[in-house]
Amino acid sequence: MLLFDTHADTLFRLCFPYGENQEMDVTKEKLLRGGVSVQVMAMFVGRSDLPSIQIAFDKMLAKKEELKQNGFRQVDDLKEAKEGEGAFMLSVEGCDLLDGHGEMLSDWRRQGVRMAALTWNYDNCVATPASKDSTTGLKPFGREAVREMQRLGMAVDVSHLNEKGFYELLEMGVVPLASHSCCRKLCDHVRNLTDDQLKALFSAGGYVGVNFYPAFLQKSGKATLSHVCDHVIHMLEMGGEGHIGFGSDFDGIETKPDGLSGPQDFPKLMDALRKRGLDEKLIRGIAGENLLHYYERI
Ligand SMILES: [Zn+2]
Repeated sequence: MLLFDTHADTLFRLCFPYGENQEMDVTKEKLLRGGVSVQVMAMFVGRSDLPSIQIAFDKMLAKKEELKQNGFRQVDDLKEAKEGEGAFMLSVEGCDLLDGHGEMLSDWRRQGVRMAALTWNYDNCVATPASKDSTTGLKPFGREAVREMQRLGMAVDVSHLNEKGFYELLEMGVVPLASHSCCRKLCDHVRNLTDDQLKALFSAGGYVGVNFYPAFLQKSGKATLSHVCDHVIHMLEMGGEGHIGFGSDFDGIETKPDGLSGPQDFPKLMDALRKRGLDEKLIRGIAGENLLHYYERI
């Protein structure tokens, strides 16, 4: 079975370690144990203590070359994915680096970037995040950048984006992907998608990877495998069949749901979904096929 995870901050964490516990959530060995085909690794440029976004970005690019030298295959197109291989694909989290230079997107594409989140938690040249304000839409340059991303076959990632920008993208005819987001209905957090957003995104042909961060899963900030299942099932109820998967946020989150501490635990999550009544066709879709089909659509 193909198994994809659309978001981990592993590259960033390898370059800029954080937290007391230095053990990485995502390693090649854990991906193999969990049967993951491709882990999407984000080049994240949001932390404010970075030397500069450009330096951080270049450091992450150098790090991904190092991963390749260590036997980690980089996948440019998910059609090349192999079951249980533990390969990786690149994404960018936060278009802050573009700074008005749309031509940079082709360079990203040449490096293998296949999805880009318009914002992280700061306002930038492209759009405004959900954490800042809800009334500012896409910036004029943002519209240009999005058109260029469409031309390059790069998924427009709406995780972190505010609602106004989200709906403007839909009006532009963009088929959005939320690489790591949960349901607002089940956990009222500004980073989560409302039912209206989920319905609109699914009917536009979009894709959502369910985030494993306990604070997005449960208001109490404590979560188990069963809370992840709740978000999956709620998305299915909102019309998400064929349009959802996983976007763990591993290596970007300090706490994790009980029973789900890294990619090695994916089989446990699949079993939990089976126990909740999902059949094998649904499971195969959520694990990998849905994302494959999403890329065929864009
Ligand atoms: Zn994020």
